[in-house]
Amino acid sequence: QSRRIAFLGLGNMGGPMAANLVRAGHRVTGFDPVPEAVARAEEHGITVVGAAEDAVRGAEVVITMLPNGALVQEAYVAILPAADPGTLFIDSSTIDVADARAANDLATRSGHRAIDAPVSGGVVGAEAGTLAFMVGGTEDDFADAQPLLEAMGRKIVYCGGPGNGQAAKVCNNMILGVSMIAVSEAFVLGEKLGLSNQALFDVAANASGQCWSLTTNCPIPGPVPTSPANHDYRPGFAAALMDKDLGLASNAVRNNAVAAELGLHAAEMYHRFASSGGGGLDFSAIINDIRDRSTS
Ligand code: NAD
Repeated sequence: QSRRIAFLGLGNMGGPMAANLVRAGHRVTGFDPVPEAVARAEEHGITVVGAAEDAVRGAEVVITMLPNGALVQEAYVAILPAADPGTLFIDSSTIDVADARAANDLATRSGHRAIDAPVSGGVVGAEAGTLAFMVGGTEDDFADAQPLLEAMGRKIVYCGGPGNGQAAKVCNNMILGVSMIAVSEAFVLGEKLGLSNQALFDVAANASGQCWSLTTNCPIPGPVPTSPANHDYRPGFAAALMDKDLGLASNAVRNNAVAAELGLHAAEMYHRFASSGGGGLDFSAIINDIRDRSTS
């Protein structure tokens, strides 16, 4: 059934996601302060208005896809009073678990419904409508959102109460950051020991070292021809985004007094790498930083 949707944040991810909702037959009214984002959205049939409040008025569902948690909360404070009672708010931005729970509180205390539904799959997934969604909120609100999420994604997982979508995302990306560093360190150690990259790959890919960072996004060129290492480390998943996500993971680790030493260390390594010129490269390029620092 066609629904009236407000979409706030029509950037690299939000633009194509909103376009897929239009393609699925929904009426989408959007807002974004950046003129280029507005122009692209209009090309895809999104009606763009000059203020967030105007997009939200009369909408049944409000979707946000914004850079960070502070902006999500600011946006909620501005738009909640303009929304009809009981409007469903879906935040798909990647933000702190604590911010997601605070945003959910703001919305529900104003008489609305809210879920967090962060995504993975990047811009390619947003354009193709193949994103993975991780959802936190009530089961009823999840069920209400599901057809819309299916118009933008392929794999949709209900993770439990408010904030649990963000929780699942930071936990997964903490595994990913740590495992990419582990695989990269092993390749550099192998090189120092006179082992060919291919030989280590052939052993580890069929042994207990097997993981996505090795067999799909392999950080050295050769064994997995589709991995970014074979294409000058063009992302893929940019190190700047890994830096952001591991920063959120670190906040959650510290707020909850978890002894996640590797997760915290991975966050530091990606922060240093991303802020010293590596941010635009695929996150697997961290292997070159590890190799560069491996001097005897
Ligand atoms: P982006 O910077 O391209 O888009 C964000 C958009 O939000 C911008 O166009 C900006 O003008 C707009 N915006 C800022 N404040 C606003 C407001 N108050 N109201 C309306 N619009 C506003 O970023 P992106 O790559 O689209 O990422 C968006 C979110 O998705 C981030 O939280 C990011 O971490 C997450 N994410 C990104 C990727 C990716 O590969 N790019 C993958 C997964 C998740």
